[in-house]
Amino acid sequence: MKRRHFTKTLGAGVLAGAALPYTLGEAKSEITWKMVTTWPKNFPGIGVGVENLAKRVDELSGGRMTIKVYGAGEVVPALEVFDAVSRGTAEMGHAGAYYWKGKNEAFQFFSSVPFGMNAMEMNAWLYYGGGLKLWQEGYEKFNLIPMPGGNTGVQMGGWFNKQINSVDDLKGLKMRMPGLGGEVLKRAGGTPVTLPGGELFNALKNGTIDATEWVGPYNDLAFGLHKAAKYYYYPGWHEPGTPLEITINKKAFDALPADLQSIVLNACKILNQDMLNDLTANNNQALHALKTKHHVDVRRFPDVVLKKLKVISDEVVADLAAKDAYSKMVFDSYRNFRDVVLPWHAISEYAYLRARQL
Ligand code: CA
Repeated sequence: MKRRHFTKTLGAGVLAGAALPYTLGEAKSEITWKMVTTWPKNFPGIGVGVENLAKRVDELSGGRMTIKVYGAGEVVPALEVFDAVSRGTAEMGHAGAYYWKGKNEAFQFFSSVPFGMNAMEMNAWLYYGGGLKLWQEGYEKFNLIPMPGGNTGVQMGGWFNKQINSVDDLKGLKMRMPGLGGEVLKRAGGTPVTLPGGELFNALKNGTIDATEWVGPYNDLAFGLHKAAKYYYYPGWHEPGTPLEITINKKAFDALPADLQSIVLNACKILNQDMLNDLTANNNQALHALKTKHHVDVRRFPDVVLKKLKVISDEVVADLAAKDAYSKMVFDSYRNFRDVVLPWHAISEYAYLRARQL
């Protein structure tokens, strides 16, 4: 535990928007971890968020711990992050739990339930309603510790090259949509595909897919999706507040001293809120640019479409809950929390948003 102290200026943008007028000590790094992600390196909001997590761990640990972040494909392909961290190729990962439905379909409850809970409600369930405990139990046999690692807020419904006026317009549509939303699309007559974000523009442009969803205006603009499709629909019924996930290799975590364990877990907690703040701030600007500069046709899904998709979603979720004992346990926990948060938010958040529109 020998430390060599130097001084350096605190990195701008990590704790505040500008460099602070004081310095932090710096010690020689004792532990270096690799972090693999499902995003392009430094991708706005999502990729930048994990770079900031790495900087925070460096600062909070006084330079004793370094996390090196890798973009999709640099160490492993995007959709192999879970396995890479599980086997210890990397000590940490950043992704979305619905990418791992092949491991257990119930993991989708920890990312996104169509017409389900929003960001505020998901965070409340995960941290204070037993959700995170169930998530951690589910990942234990894979030698992984999951942590919420950012939240997108309500996403956009996606990019289409034709209008969606009825559920029939979804029939035969090949659309990138992961997770439970994809299953709903399938039962509505569409063909869901799961592709990592970095492949969406080309797939949409060359017609491999007819439509795609990604995240929200900030991230969608960054991929240039407005250059590949005409209509931009809302709301993102399929992803109403998706937590992203940090995975930590359990063996590597257990080998850390207690203070570094606390720093890593608390840095995840900061990331979880910070990314939502970043996306909330920048989605506004990006939506404005999409509408005024790029003249994107922004449209709301008709009620008739949303109502039908909601009926199908309830069926999809009920079927998933019946798959095995773990799925039922997660679903029961999710549903119990949702059923008490909805009446509260009906007279708080929703009533206020409605009042603001009067
Ligand atoms: Ca999405």
